[in-house]
Amino acid sequence: MDLGLKNRVALVAASSQGLGLATAEAFAAEGCRVAMCARNDQTLQAAAEAIRKQHKAEVLAEAFDVRDAAAVSRFVAAVANKFGSVDICVTNAGGPPAKGFLAATLEDWQRAIELNFLSTVYFAREVIPHMQRKHWGRIITITSITTKQPVADLVLSNAVRAAVVGLVKSLANEFGKDGILVNNVGPGFTATDRLKELARARSSATGKTEQEIFDAWAAEAPLRRLGEPRELAETVVWLASERASYVTGQTVLVDGGMYKGL
Ligand code: NAD
Repeated sequence: MDLGLKNRVALVAASSQGLGLATAEAFAAEGCRVAMCARNDQTLQAAAEAIRKQHKAEVLAEAFDVRDAAAVSRFVAAVANKFGSVDICVTNAGGPPAKGFLAATLEDWQRAIELNFLSTVYFAREVIPHMQRKHWGRIITITSITTKQPVADLVLSNAVRAAVVGLVKSLANEFGKDGILVNNVGPGFTATDRLKELARARSSATGKTEQEIFDAWAAEAPLRRLGEPRELAETVVWLASERASYVTGQTVLVDGGMYKGL
């Protein structure tokens, strides 16, 4: 299937490792020019270089914090300057800490709102004018299964990511006339460093081993295993492609069937 993505410019936020890195790689494999960012410059540049080598792709990589609106603005301008436009923008960031409601501090709430909601606002504000000019664009948010089904001890994610879905639906409604499609992708339990971090937190809270926790998560999904980052990335690439040209305002879960609703 030709996804029609060759030479498109794909910006993937928080892409030095995990789901963001897998997504940047998947766009490069489709012939896109790729823009990457994350906080740690060394890890980020190493990831960018590996993608350049493996896919012969043009890659722009800059280290900054996605909570910094001015840095996001500068980066989007630099991407448009180097590649001529920004066609696809995938928003992503680290996840908030695993905590119950009374354990979460006001600072935790503030940080989660900045990291997991406002960072998406910052990127959307900057990329939409570029997409409007070309009458073509894709904004895809990487959030979580928590946008459909709350997960125990992830109250920060359960609450804050719902705002992202409200934003996604609003942007899809407002900018569909400009050829901009906006969708949300919610991973279930996927084998990345973030999942190891969650397993450690749950292990110290329950006394179970990390392996027991991974096994229990895998058992929650009808597919009886954790997801691979590549599986999430390929769904994002499909949503960005010409093959998903009538899909907007949706949340697509990549969760092995873990979501229990209809
Ligand atoms: P990860 O921890 O492996 O990678 C996170 C990436 O974000 C890294 O590249 C890191 O450098 C970057 N990052 C973190 N904070 C940043 C900041 N302030 N500014 C710029 N870059 C920043 O996580 P992951 O598993 O790839 O998850 C990505 C997102 O998906 C997270 O929000 C996570 O909560 C969510 N998610 C993951 C899973 C899972 O099972 N892996 C499940 C549901 C939701």
